[in-house]
Amino acid sequence: MSEVTNTPAAQIDSIMNTYQRFPVTFVKGKGSYIWDDTGKRYLDFTSGIGTCNLGHVPNSVKNAVEAQLQELWHCSNLYHIPAQQKLADLLTSNSFGDQVFFCNSGAEANEGAIKLARRYAQKVKGTDAFEVVTFQRSFHGRTMATLTATGQSKIQDGFGPLVPGFRYLPYNSVEALSEILTPQTCAVLLELTQGEGGVVPAKKDWLQQLVAICKENDILLMVDEVQTGMGRTGKLFAYEHYGIEPDVLTLAKGLGSGLPIGAIVAKGEVAEAFGPGTHGTTFGGNPIVATAGVATLTELVETDVVQQAGELGAYLADQLQELAEDYPAQVKEIRGIGLMQGIVTEGLAIDVLNEAREQHNVLLLVAGPNVVRLLPPLTTTQSEIDQVINVLKTIFANQTEGGKSL
Ligand SMILES: *Cc1c(COP(=O)(O)O)cnc(C)c1O
Repeated sequence: MSEVTNTPAAQIDSIMNTYQRFPVTFVKGKGSYIWDDTGKRYLDFTSGIGTCNLGHVPNSVKNAVEAQLQELWHCSNLYHIPAQQKLADLLTSNSFGDQVFFCNSGAEANEGAIKLARRYAQKVKGTDAFEVVTFQRSFHGRTMATLTATGQSKIQDGFGPLVPGFRYLPYNSVEALSEILTPQTCAVLLELTQGEGGVVPAKKDWLQQLVAICKENDILLMVDEVQTGMGRTGKLFAYEHYGIEPDVLTLAKGLGSGLPIGAIVAKGEVAEAFGPGTHGTTFGGNPIVATAGVATLTELVETDVVQQAGELGAYLADQLQELAEDYPAQVKEIRGIGLMQGIVTEGLAIDVLNEAREQHNVLLLVAGPNVVRLLPPLTTTQSEIDQVINVLKTIFANQTEGGKSL
């Protein structure tokens, strides 16, 4: 029996079965590469789901966090935290926002944004509006309010009753824009490129019309940039591509380079709705994670890494487009922005992932059953992109010969 309890499988049993994990254990990362416990090296085009935007264990963040580890880890938000103040200053000076609330994850940032929108409507504007409009196939998190905000029934299944006050419209539909407003509507919450829902960029015309409706009717425009933010799309924030100004921005994934930190960035008049005691978190923006955030954001704004990400993203998109032309029976569409690209496949995306990982030591993601998603670090290179394109070519060519997805 002791033999059995000492196997890795027995250890995995003590973790709840919420992830269908791939049979790999990673123990080390540097830059675009990650190593498993047998010493095998993989080219990582997932960045820990769009989180390690500067690559694994980037020196600038590592050094800053190591120094902070010597000084103070946690003191709670009852006191001033210098790194948190610095990160808030950096976020507001590099965005439309005036004030920031720090939390621990993307779901928590969106949860807080939903609370902020309701409180702004009720306490600042003095209305009884509470409804938040979101979109079909969106993803906003796994807490009760954010899974309700998420326009995917598979995320909500078995968790009812859901939180009241959400309504879903089709994404990118100009016709449906007439349905945004009801007397109860207080905010619109959306991703500017839907990530988990299949890598679907917002159409410019549609978004500009949506923004105009929000502005004319004093409805808050809240952009969930948990995945698109922090340079991912070739701008620091994706909203910059559209020439729009949101009222609220949520961040997490790339903000701490892999340390857990999220943020709500808001315009001053909106942020005013949160006074002392209205919202809080014990860990949010603690000295360690805030230090990681400062080092990450400093690197993003003081070097040309974001601009390079935009150029590399355009190169990746071009290469993928060629691939789609070469393998029309396997690849239906390429879509995305910057270093957030999706390959819509005829066959199952998971088959491509498994082959890339097992045969070619390349890590990719899915975004739904038929979309292969690529989220390389912003620090990737043209030659790494070429490697991944070649791997994809091999995989799609094999599918042609094997007749798997013809
Ligand atoms: C990942 C993600 C979230 C949830 O973030 P967590 O840190 O997992 O809670 C929310 N919104 C978007 C757009 C995301 O990609």
